Amino acid sequence: MNLDKLQEWLVSTGNDVAYISDPLSIAYFTGYSMEPHERIFSLVALKDAPAFVFVPALNVEEAKASDWNGDVVGYLDSEDPWAIIGDEIRKRTTKHKNWAIEKINLPVAHFQNLRSNFPDGSFTNDVSGFIERIRLYKTPEEIEKLKGAGREADCAFQIGFDAIRTGATERSIAGQIDYQLKIQHGVMHESFETIVQAGKNAANPHLGPTMNTVQPNQLVLFDLGTMHDGYASDASRTVAYGEPSAKQREIYEVDREAQQAAIDAVKPGITAGELDAVARDIIKRAGYGEYFIHRLGHGIGMNVHEFPSIVGGNDLVIEEGMCFSIEPGIYIPGFAGVRIEDCGVVTKDGFETFTHTDKDLKILPLKD
Ligand code: MN
Ligand code: MN
Repeated sequence: MNLDKLQEWLVSTGNDVAYISDPLSIAYFTGYSMEPHERIFSLVALKDAPAFVFVPALNVEEAKASDWNGDVVGYLDSEDPWAIIGDEIRKRTTKHKNWAIEKINLPVAHFQNLRSNFPDGSFTNDVSGFIERIRLYKTPEEIEKLKGAGREADCAFQIGFDAIRTGATERSIAGQIDYQLKIQHGVMHESFETIVQAGKNAANPHLGPTMNTVQPNQLVLFDLGTMHDGYASDASRTVAYGEPSAKQREIYEVDREAQQAAIDAVKPGITAGELDAVARDIIKRAGYGEYFIHRLGHGIGMNVHEFPSIVGGNDLVIEEGMCFSIEPGIYIPGFAGVRIEDCGVVTKDGFETFTHTDKDLKILPLKD
């Protein structure tokens, strides 16, 4: 179980307490997940005593009924949560000097409250890097969930392609996707706001969706994903609405070749930086290097963006079980944008994608 790895880490690093405050990290270690908003939600792991999950009183029953079998400690809105955490730790152990905190996800105000309850404590150590490293390698169960999210993304593309017509706003097409995912496929929520971009809007990779309307002979870019059993999908497709021009076709084919070459190059032993270069060199050679304005990809799991980062200069060696996106793009301001994105898992000799929507340039017939 993942929590055992955290306990082993505490022992091997000489830390007494790990204070885990990112809800996704808590879910990873305990199987219990929730959104605490401004209230306090944490996992307190101790080197020589049982861990406990700390939640608002209104979440206690839900936490006990979850996959988490350990202790649950609650606090009322009228109580001081920090004093209760302090008392609970002292009840369990006398060893609480060396703390490891999640520096990437602990508000300064929370940090100061912890420290004032443990004035002799040392709060210099960071557990974030350890969590990032163990989350790099996905288990078969996690990979099944990622594949489930990928299947939903494939359904979402089909809904989006069917919704394109002359005069439809990007926002209405995105709305159709989100609505149909919920009513047809039981998707609870997207992993990020569904992106639909027509024509020149697609040259801004993270814009929209806006009230811009689809017009004949534009490229339309979709970037979307769902959450499935706590795991995310993230995928992009670009289609032509009506007959594409030679230039539109060219940037599509260059991007597609770059994406396929990078997918084909994935295998254990290659570095993240080398993978980025495989796609980037193809786009550069075709004369569009200046229009590929982001890294090749990012890790995916419980978070839509996590480690590893597939970026130039990253010497991280790719290994079996890592999951990430391959998503080269070409963005020409004032003209059009293309991005083709699949996430997948590194296998013993290649890369298995989670999404399968066809990548031959799709030419949709005009619709009124
Ligand atoms: Mn992505
Ligand atoms: Mn994406």
